[in-house]
Amino acid sequence: KSCGTDVRERTLIAVKPDGVQRRLVGQIMQRFEQRGFKLVGLKMMQVSDDLLSQHYSELRTKPFYPRLLHYMTMGPVVVMVWEGHKVIQVSRTMVGHTNPAEAQAGTVRGDFSFHVSRNVVHASDSPEGAQREIQLWFQKKELLNWDCFDQTITC
Ligand code: ADP
Ligand code: MG
Repeated sequence: KSCGTDVRERTLIAVKPDGVQRRLVGQIMQRFEQRGFKLVGLKMMQVSDDLLSQHYSELRTKPFYPRLLHYMTMGPVVVMVWEGHKVIQVSRTMVGHTNPAEAQAGTVRGDFSFHVSRNVVHASDSPEGAQREIQLWFQKKELLNWDCFDQTITC
């Protein structure tokens, strides 16, 4: 393909329980679609403590960690893998600052939330983190290879 292999970068995005309960899934997904990224994995699930403790292992010693686990298990999450050029960095920009009070208008957190303990969405923060999180949340067979049927001119 003329746009090269660097369009294959992947990241993990999750709509957290507050976002699902507030019916924000469609609007959040729409932002990634309209940016041009490709959806390669999608599921809704009630997250286990075991999965969460692996996902947030770096935060285990933080004072807010128990509240974070509680928050993330209050309802189902919608977890996705998106693919595209620099998708990790671009989606962090689209999601906005961890603390919604600091997040710019136009970002998901800046438009839909105001408090760090209810910040609506997760996005991987680095290539290493994205790879680790995608493997943790998805089985390989759950991720789509668009090459099998995609004959479009987009990248
Ligand atoms: P991000 O989600 O932007 O990558 P972190 O990885 O630092 O941010 O933190 C993971 C999640 O932990 C945040 O999205 C938020 O839900 C929660 N969190 C972070 N800091 C705080 C805090 N000071 N108080 C409550 N929850 C927090
Ligand atoms: Mg993080």
